[in-house]
This record gives sequence, structure tokens and C-alpha cells, in this order.
Amino acid sequence: MLFELKSVFLSDGETKSISYELDMTDIDIDGIFPFTAPVSVTADACNRTGLVTLNITCEYPFSRPCDRCGVLVSGVERQVFSHRLVQELVDETNDDYIETPDFTLELDEVVVSDLILNYPQKFLCGEDCRGLCPKCGKNLNEGKCGCDTAQVDPRLEILKQLMEDE
Ligand SMILES: [Zn+2]
Ligand SMILES: [Zn+2]
Repeated sequence: MLFELKSVFLSDGETKSISYELDMTDIDIDGIFPFTAPVSVTADACNRTGLVTLNITCEYPFSRPCDRCGVLVSGVERQVFSHRLVQELVDETNDDYIETPDFTLELDEVVVSDLILNYPQKFLCGEDCRGLCPKCGKNLNEGKCGCDTAQVDPRLEILKQLMEDE
């Protein structure tokens, strides 16, 4: 989606918005296709005293297994990104700045890279997820399993074996 920004750049106080759906269903991150439905994108560009800011809001339904217990979690993810739009880049290393020399911006590229760079590496169903029992595999969020999972100190274990051998 091409975002035409000439009017924003040329007049202080000017704002322009655009909303559309971006299909990212063919994007795979480490073998997972996280964007199972089109992403709703709303982009606002505004000029405040000559500084042009772009705010992008992305919303998409997700369903992803918990990294600890494996339960599939579904919901709606909403993320907001901000960038400063400039006519010419001074500092090429700063990702917050995007160069728009001809007053137009290819939004899809910005949205795709924002979403991929901010895609959470780790995902838990809840911060206090107890995970699975290492012995029987029961989901410990649903209750205890009765296995003896007390951690044994490996040094004590060696001592115990030495004494038993005598
Ligand atoms: Zn979990
Ligand atoms: Zn168990």
C-alpha cells in the first residue's frame, strides 16, 4: 500500500490516515506461520512543527502453542509502532527514521519488518505457567501429578554410589 504524504510534509499540523488489510499468511518465522488471517493496519502520519511522525497500529488474530506446556492459545494481538519520517537520512543506523525522498512510503514493507522484528521469541500461556511434568508429561497447570520430581544434587548422588560400592 503506497502512502502518499506530500500534503503532510508540506503543511504544519496536517494529518493523514490510512487503513487497510495486509495479507501476511505466507510469512513463516522458524517454520511457524503466525499471521493466519490478514493483519488490520491503521497508519497515521502527522506533521508537528515540521517533524513528521508515523504511527502504525496492527491487529491480527493469533493462535500459538505455549512454549512451556504446549497448550494452544488464541486471541487478538495488537501492536503499535512509531517512526519518524524524513526527507533525507542523516543517521543510517537508526531504524526509527525512515527516508521518504519522494513523499511516498511503501507501508507494507514497514509493517512486515516491524511485525517480524517484534515477533516474540518466547511465548507463554501465562507468566506463571507451570509447564509439564518431566516424568509423566502431565500439564501441571491442571493440577499435581504425584511424581517425585525433587531435584537430586548430582554430587551427593556420586557420594552415595561410592559408599554403596564399599
Ligand atoms: Zn503454558
Ligand atoms: Zn508427573
